Amino acid sequence: MSDLKIGVLSCSGEECLGGTIARLATRKMLEKLRKDKTVTLCLPLYLAGGEEERSFAKDYPVITVDGCSKCCAKRATEKYSGKVSDTVIVSDVLGEDAALSKIVSSKDLKKEHYQMVDKVADEICQKFDKITLEIEK
Ligand code: SF4
Repeated sequence: MSDLKIGVLSCSGEECLGGTIARLATRKMLEKLRKDKTVTLCLPLYLAGGEEERSFAKDYPVITVDGCSKCCAKRATEKYSGKVSDTVIVSDVLGEDAALSKIVSSKDLKKEHYQMVDKVADEICQKFDKITLEIEK
């Protein structure tokens, strides 16, 4: 089995549902969908971090997962570490109305929100597998 690992880096959005979904979908990659192949770190640590964190995107192909079109995770990664391999933007996948909704606490999430997490995680998986194929061919 290949030991290829891919970084999945979520924005830390706390202001809108898109950020919450970005974080939950990233966790799902790490804990369930591609658990042996996903590496991640939290964006605040990355922003505060030293060389080790900043070399993240140099050491791994990175998919950033952003809650909205401000693309904080993508912009931070490209500023400190270099170009990302791909991006998922929750508002592109689910639409702005859903992504910018003010439901942000996980205790308020309902079945429909977890379905949104699944949809975004599927999108990350597709990009993840495409990068894997490109690297392994
Ligand atoms: S990308 Fe959007 S949701 Fe995420 S931290 Fe930035 S402003 Fe917030």
